[in-house]
Amino acid sequence: MEQNLYTLAQSQLNKAIDLCNLDDNVKVILQQPKNEIIINFPVKMDNGELQLIKSYRVQHNNILGPYKGGLRFNENIYLDEIKSLAMWMTLKNSLQCLPYGGAKGGVKINPRKYSEREIESISRTYCQYLKKFIGPNQDIPAPDMGTNSQIMDWMTDTYEKLGHKHEKGVFTGKSVECGGSEGRTEATGYGVVTCIKQWAKENNFDLRGKSYIIQGYGNVGSNTAILLSLLGMTCIAVGDHSGYIRNLEGFNVYKLNDYCIKNKSLKDYPGEIIDKKTFFSLECDIIIPAALELVICGDEAKDLKCKMIVEAANGPIDLCADEVLKEKNIQVIPDILANSGGVVVSYYEWLQNRRCEYWSKEQVLSKLENKMIETYKKVSDYSRKNNVSLRYASYILSLKNIEKVYLKKGY
Ligand code: NAD
Repeated sequence: MEQNLYTLAQSQLNKAIDLCNLDDNVKVILQQPKNEIIINFPVKMDNGELQLIKSYRVQHNNILGPYKGGLRFNENIYLDEIKSLAMWMTLKNSLQCLPYGGAKGGVKINPRKYSEREIESISRTYCQYLKKFIGPNQDIPAPDMGTNSQIMDWMTDTYEKLGHKHEKGVFTGKSVECGGSEGRTEATGYGVVTCIKQWAKENNFDLRGKSYIIQGYGNVGSNTAILLSLLGMTCIAVGDHSGYIRNLEGFNVYKLNDYCIKNKSLKDYPGEIIDKKTFFSLECDIIIPAALELVICGDEAKDLKCKMIVEAANGPIDLCADEVLKEKNIQVIPDILANSGGVVVSYYEWLQNRRCEYWSKEQVLSKLENKMIETYKKVSDYSRKNNVSLRYASYILSLKNIEKVYLKKGY
């Protein structure tokens, strides 16, 4: 039976709440999002026909600041998935001490099946209907799976035109030409790799010559792989929506990246074709899920032969798998820490837009690296001192930060 993602998200949340004795009222407030917005809107296709498109925006909590979180274009999204991702954004932003609450949105389409003109029209119309719910001080969307800087540029343009004023800070992840930040494209991968380096340092693990496998070779996956190659690590298997391939001598991650950009998937890229089960049973040092949620469940977890998993994707491991990994002594760097580099640089973009400043890529990435290291250390110290996993250490630090603000402000 297919698992519902919200069951996982709530179980993780409630386990963390129990572990840290969170205030009862804060517990009640965090159980459900504040707003669940569903909009069905019509768009004219290239053949002249009208299509009704389903879309979501879930605003989970905004005690720390305006709602913030990505927008996904994917044909399989459903309300409970977006609710889970919005809740994780609340926790992620709080963990990184950003002045934001959590949100997530999505449009239920397969972007690969539409022309560029149709995607532009869908993006602009979605933004038009969403306009009253978002804003630089209200809710700030960003790219996620299936979306990119071009889509953020179209949406920002629509928002500004409708409001008759410049308000670049309403979206982040824009192109640099349209007010985006240097370093935003690679930020999530950069944050993932900073976590891996920190983990290796704390565990006296030399990354040079070590192997990894990666699921998902889009923005997060490809940038992570390229940065790992600079550390001397080898990618021995890779998978995406079109299938899985392996090369025990290691893939050239740059060529793979060029191929995926050109062909929109890794289908027919040279390598031995394997199935998903074989992929997850490969012997390697690190596994990097960088695509979807719920990909490592109990069955896959039993097969894994790695030392560590870094959750570049949101929610890739279910509760049952978490237990199996604990027994197998496989450490997990959790999503709300590992992939938080994206929202950290989104915050830097928002700051630059507000201040009309432009920071260099070096400035952005060095600030990001310091922030990731600082937060990683906080989490791993808490984990060690309190004998809880990195996941629950992250959750507890994040929840306690939110609780502090509620206790000062009132409910
Ligand atoms: P993307 O659209 O650029 O790439 C997604 C990748 O996943 C593609 O390679 C796609 O082929 C693959 N994929 C899709 N369906 C699949 C399936 N059924 N099986 C295997 N692979 C599949 O998206 P992205 O921005 O790289 O996001 C990837 C993950 O990282 C998502 O979970 C997202 O929420 C998370 N994330 C992204 C950011 C960001 O800044 N983009 C930030 C934080 C977290």
